[in-house]
Amino acid sequence: MTNNIAGKVVIITGASSGIGEATAKLLASKGAKVVLGARRIDRLDAMVDEITKAGGEAACQVMDVTKTADNEAIVMLAKEKFGKVDAIFLNAGLMPASPVSALKTDEWDEMVDVNIKGVLNGVAAVMPSFTEQKSGHVIATSSVAGLKAYPGNGVYCGTKWFVRSFMEVLRMESATEGTNIRTATIYPAAINTELLDTISDEATAEAYHGLYKTYGISPDRIASIVEFALSLPEDTTVNEFTIGPANQP
Ligand code: NDP
Repeated sequence: MTNNIAGKVVIITGASSGIGEATAKLLASKGAKVVLGARRIDRLDAMVDEITKAGGEAACQVMDVTKTADNEAIVMLAKEKFGKVDAIFLNAGLMPASPVSALKTDEWDEMVDVNIKGVLNGVAAVMPSFTEQKSGHVIATSSVAGLKAYPGNGVYCGTKWFVRSFMEVLRMESATEGTNIRTATIYPAAINTELLDTISDEATAEAYHGLYKTYGISPDRIASIVEFALSLPEDTTVNEFTIGPANQP
């Protein structure tokens, strides 16, 4: 019996921890060939080893999503190793949250570079292949912070609002241009990962750690959403998923 995932070649950015790691392992267990990118190559190597030993197929590459060449290289890796690319999960991101008045401008730059430019670089790298084969699936991790504004997290919210609007335009243009490129944007709430590790503002870090301790759920839940999106028939798409802890207001 086919699950519509077995045999699909899926690139995952930000695969070394959290949501990306959980998604890579779930998709590989369903028969997808996963191609993993992130900066911490030791973690990716260990995951490829684990997936392979479990009978799955995986490859990895050190990747900084802010670098155009790294994005192009991971698409090449997927094609060389597995012959094609069916989907890309644009998931790499970081959230060094702080109030605007703290003026942590280096962290603003980092969020713009990774959360916005990283998504654009990934789309630019994969689009020629998707256009040529007249099919492809772009899945991106935005956030509930891409739907609402949260004081203390203004720049991150802005980057995730960008992901929402850009993905919607990509969906509409793909439909009108007939390229058959599907999109899915995921808006998670509190998910227990390493996301809070980059928060340098002490008061903000304390607040977020408290929130996540109360509400946080497993990244496996987001992996299931990616699995669902990929399992849909080629003529069907679910464009947006808002998902989080049932008890988080
Ligand atoms: P993690 O910190 O566990 O994972 C973030 C991933 O992004 C890591 O694999 C990290 O890998 C990668 N990454 C960061 N910077 C770069 C870079 N320059 N190039 C390549 N990879 C990079 O957190 P999550 O799993 O939670 O985060 C995944 C996505 O989910 C992010 O986009 C985040 O904004 C979003 N999100 C998370 C929520 C949550 O509550 N956890 C809620 C809503 C959205 P490495 O450091 O090895 O490069």
